[in-house]
Amino acid sequence: MPRTKRVALTFDDGPAESTTTIVEILEAKEAPATFFVVGRRARRLPDVVRRVAGSAYAEVGNHTWSHADLVTLPEEEVRHEITRASDLLRDLCGAPVTAFRPPRGHHDRVVRDIAAQAGLDVILFSLNPKDWANQDADAVVETILGQARDGDVVVLHDTLVATAAAVGRIIDGLRERGFVIVPHRELTGDLAPGTWSDGATSGAVRAARYARRQPQRLRAHASRLARSAGLRPGAITD
Ligand SMILES: [Zn+2]
Repeated sequence: MPRTKRVALTFDDGPAESTTTIVEILEAKEAPATFFVVGRRARRLPDVVRRVAGSAYAEVGNHTWSHADLVTLPEEEVRHEITRASDLLRDLCGAPVTAFRPPRGHHDRVVRDIAAQAGLDVILFSLNPKDWANQDADAVVETILGQARDGDVVVLHDTLVATAAAVGRIIDGLRERGFVIVPHRELTGDLAPGTWSDGATSGAVRAARYARRQPQRLRAHASRLARSAGLRPGAITD
């Protein structure tokens, strides 16, 4: 029997109006997900955060207070961004949050140390369909279903209406392709303080993805060379 393929869904940058819609879909389909919320948005929409925290299928995580790029900030501001969000979320959720995702996935030793001191695991992602780029539900579904590999942690944005419209089809499509949707901790496990995870098999996933894209990269490189040599676009083909 083939080994079960597992994938985790995460949603960043909320809470937003569409967050509740997504939680309802997760519940109807009995699929878990984690929502990495921005503190100052949570302060404006506390009921949405409570709705997420109260769901059996959703976890609230910390995505900083103001969505700052932490690696550009002095240490004290990094600490403030992380702990201010954790304090508010603990109050709203009734329990400490334990998962943290730095904005843009940018982290360094300072960020990781402060996250560890705040009791947070740093959870990155391995599959990014860039749902913010086109905000096209069909394209998001197609990208995820075409690229998902065992062990992937998928990043989406619950702030986007198009993403909310895609979630049901993403879940159904992944399941049709043999994936089980699991909480990210089933892939990332229990982390030691100061370490981080971007998906249990992300090294292998990244290598496979890189290899698959090599022919496209080489074609693009060849046509750039052709253009710079004054040849017609398309003069060099495979
Ligand atoms: Zn973000």
